[in-house]
Amino acid sequence: MRSDRTAVVIGASMGGLLAARALTDTHARVLVVDRDDLPVAAADRRGVPQGRQLHVLLARGRHALEELFPGLTQELADLTVPLVDLHGRVHWYNDGYLMAKRPSALIAAGMSRPLLEHAVRARVAALPGVEFATTTEALGLLTGPDRRQVTGVRLRHRDGTERAVAADLVVDACGRASRSPLWLEELGYPVPAEERVRVDVTYVTRVYQHEPHHLDGMLGLLTNAVPGNPRAGIVAVQQDGRIAVAFSGVLGEQPPTEDEEMLAFAQSLAAPQVAEIVKSAQPLTDAVSMRYPASVRRRYERLRRFPDGYLVVADALCSFNPIYGQGMTVAALEALLLRRLLATGAPDLSRRFFRGSARLIDGPWAIAVGTDLRFPGVDGPRSAKVRFVNAYVHRLHAAATADPALGAAFLRVLNLVDPPTALLRPGTVLRVLRGWRRGGQRARSAGRGRSGSASATA
Ligand SMILES: Cc1cc2nc3c(=O)[nH]c(=O)nc-3n(C[C@H](O)[C@H](O)[C@H](O)COP(=O)(O)OP(=O)(O)OC[C@H]3O[C@@H](n4cnc5c(N)ncnc54)[C@H](O)[C@@H]3O)c2cc1C
Repeated sequence: MRSDRTAVVIGASMGGLLAARALTDTHARVLVVDRDDLPVAAADRRGVPQGRQLHVLLARGRHALEELFPGLTQELADLTVPLVDLHGRVHWYNDGYLMAKRPSALIAAGMSRPLLEHAVRARVAALPGVEFATTTEALGLLTGPDRRQVTGVRLRHRDGTERAVAADLVVDACGRASRSPLWLEELGYPVPAEERVRVDVTYVTRVYQHEPHHLDGMLGLLTNAVPGNPRAGIVAVQQDGRIAVAFSGVLGEQPPTEDEEMLAFAQSLAAPQVAEIVKSAQPLTDAVSMRYPASVRRRYERLRRFPDGYLVVADALCSFNPIYGQGMTVAALEALLLRRLLATGAPDLSRRFFRGSARLIDGPWAIAVGTDLRFPGVDGPRSAKVRFVNAYVHRLHAAATADPALGAAFLRVLNLVDPPTALLRPGTVLRVLRGWRRGGQRARSAGRGRSGSASATA
């Protein structure tokens, strides 16, 4: 299947690396370009500032990565990355309700973002025909005289030298700051409509030395933000005996970065285990803060005109509120889609890719935006369906305190294994109604659940 074709991928973060992997099946040469000087080891870098924040790889994402790079999970485990049963070994405090645990096949890998990127980059670099152009910025697109086909890219090295590189296919994986809309406009193409949902999230991550008694011996914890208490916490055991604690605040709520305030923030969460870590564990890093203003989805699939030989992937296509941990998983699913489309050799690659990825994005986008709309401060249409689903999922969380089958159903949807509609299967609805009456009421009278209504207090 490999031809004499050349592809250029702009951006060597997760989206670009995964697209490059897909392209190597059909392209003899794949040049991956990045502004950064890519580190030889697993290390933070400027072009991926979010790399210093806790990243969760959803179970579906781990599967997709394994499809693209067979043996990757084991390779990570050999680097001391814990493989975590997401239902059996994680405390889930959803709306204040502690989910009943049970062993599951939903397995995540606990590692820092630079380690994952490094492992994937090493795999891609070892593929035949792959080359990296580092400290090199893409300046714009090259086209034929009629501008119907992208024929390459203009690049500028950090030393100031510019060059043109010809390519049969160019892929924009530049992240949410992608300049594709601008580049397309310059070429006389329409720009994609953009959906923007302002969430104004601030993240703070700090890494500590892990001790076996942390989290009562579990390997992760999540407690979500709810209207009335816009604070959330995620804790994950990672490689090399680390434990990462991430705080987030929505709609302007800013988690602190100083010890004492961090402890107070931890104490305000529904999960008591977080404060113990912040209070007594040995910090291995400073607390690092990052703001994320809005989820952004660019509707390339709706454009009537788009040049051949060009694609936009991953965060450049859709950037999700990071609280739901979806970005890398969706990037991996897009890479699998790209690989399938290239293998068929069908014409009209961009149209097929954008339509297929829109279908991939619909589910996670509905989860992220639908859940964010619980907060009255988030702008967007609150359809009857959105309001119903949010009220229903709140009841599901209450019932899941005593019914692990409901926790399992929820986690399969959250991990993008099942579509959101799976939560509305008749058997599940019945369990929710029964459980909400029994366990949910017990939990409410014990003062645990925080409702999704604006009147709930912290
Ligand atoms: C705070 C935060 C937490 C997150 N947590 C999670 C999580 O838990 N789980 C998850 O799955 N996802 C998470 N994400 C999202 C995840 O980081 C991204 O989805 C993932 O990195 C894929 O993004 P990308 O490769 O498209 O773009 P990016 O990661 O933004 O990378 C873009 C790359 O393009 C390069 N570049 C940009 N412009 C140019 C140019 N003109 N020329 C050359 N190179 C260029 C940059 O140097 C960079 O390497 C989080 C994001 C944030 C902000």
